[in-house]
Amino acid sequence: MQPFTYQAPTSVGEAVTLLADSTHQARPFAGGTDLLVQMRRGLYAPELLVDVKHIPELNRIAFDPTAGLTIGAAVSCAWLCDHPAVRQHYPGLIDAASIIGGAAIQRRATLGGNLCNAAPSGDSIPALIVLGATATVAGPHGTRSIPVADFCIAPGKTVLGPGELLVALRIPPPVPRSGACYLRFIPRGEMDIAVAGAGAWLALGEDGSITDARIALSAVAPTPLWVKAAGEALIGQSPTEDAFKEAAAIAQAAARPISDVRGTAAQRRHLVGVLTRRALQGAYQRTK
Ligand SMILES: Cc1cc2nc3c(=O)[nH]c(=O)nc-3n(C[C@H](O)[C@H](O)[C@H](O)COP(=O)(O)OP(=O)(O)OC[C@H]3O[C@@H](n4cnc5c(N)ncnc54)[C@H](O)[C@@H]3O)c2cc1C
Repeated sequence: MQPFTYQAPTSVGEAVTLLADSTHQARPFAGGTDLLVQMRRGLYAPELLVDVKHIPELNRIAFDPTAGLTIGAAVSCAWLCDHPAVRQHYPGLIDAASIIGGAAIQRRATLGGNLCNAAPSGDSIPALIVLGATATVAGPHGTRSIPVADFCIAPGKTVLGPGELLVALRIPPPVPRSGACYLRFIPRGEMDIAVAGAGAWLALGEDGSITDARIALSAVAPTPLWVKAAGEALIGQSPTEDAFKEAAAIAQAAARPISDVRGTAAQRRHLVGVLTRRALQGAYQRTK
């Protein structure tokens, strides 16, 4: 690993100034569970690491029943999984945060880092997409809000521009009679990345029919993939096994999997069908 300088700013403004300073090749540093591995492999050689864990705005979880959930970009997966309001209102997010690595990784790894790393297999990303999450970003030209569904643009690449920093993730308040679920397939119990994953979110009307639905996939396209058509196909339908199979078939058709050491494209496409159907069943159970 090449030598680098380390700075730990205590405000968003200070962090943005450090990141935007073109005299440094600077990178934000949260848990380091991706970044340090990538630096050791020589994928990145930043001159300056800007530790974001000392900035209060990035280190908070706030829930309000009308405003929803705010998760600071430096909040660890373990902290998130222990938060009572997150456990109660957003179990679909816990599904994802609680399977990232093992206990030690979850104490370092952040949801913000998982998103900014933009791996197609990032487990939290489909879970955030189906919940309608947006990313609040600060940069040299001010603050902007980006739907998480539009955040990743290629493997390892995001919409973040020079000097921009992810500050927080915002998730709308829970809708009555709604539920979300995220599932993935890995060939062993833990500490592996997804061969394929599927997140689902459903909202039901008072008559029990589906009024809104979202489905998103991991590890089967160059970026985590929101399959809008699969959710739309469920609207107005009853939450039956047949309706879930139909939506799963649309998700399968939208997937663009590759074959690699973890699995073949055909296996991944098959998994998308199974996982989407099961994630929809899981989301439906949580609407009750
Ligand atoms: C053993 C092991 C097992 C793992 N298992 C899984 C798994 O099962 N599922 C899974 O999805 N991932 C897994 N991972 C990957 C990893 O833990 C996650 O992607 C993690 O969530 C990244 O968060 P971090 O805080 O460690 O980010 P870091 O490594 O600090 O940063 C990751 C990237 O995001 C950028 N970044 C960080 N914070 C910000 C910010 N606020 N604004 C802008 N850019 C930022 C960094 O510059 C870097 O490019 C595993 C990793 C290891 C080492």
